[in-house]
Amino acid sequence: MQRTIILDESQKKILTNHAIKQAPAESCALLFGFQKDDTTTIKEVFLTENIENSPANFTISNDELLSGYQEAEKKGLDVVGIFHSHPFSKASPSITDKTFMTINPVVWIIFSNVDEEMNAYILESEVIPVKIKIL
Ligand SMILES: [Zn+2]
Repeated sequence: MQRTIILDESQKKILTNHAIKQAPAESCALLFGFQKDDTTTIKEVFLTENIENSPANFTISNDELLSGYQEAEKKGLDVVGIFHSHPFSKASPSITDKTFMTINPVVWIIFSNVDEEMNAYILESEVIPVKIKIL
């Protein structure tokens, strides 16, 4: 079955604005929601800081990761996705991203500042595209 991630127009706008504001560095965020069968539903976006402040990498601090997970739990949600942006390249996973996808096997949403495309992926036996559905 086709994997799908559902987010609403305002969440998409928050992520896009975050990516534009953080450029030329990569931006990042945690996505809170729930998972049912092949569908991931985003309920809340938790914007984070890229402590590397790099145009080619991103790292979320352990403190911010911890508060993100606690915040999600408080709301009865899970961290079901990771968002980051590519200021200078297409919205597809880099080799580094693929490595981190094995550590964090959630849905990864990538936004490209180049063409303003937003794509989603998940690592199963290989990296597969996830359909983004905007409500
Ligand atoms: Zn990346």
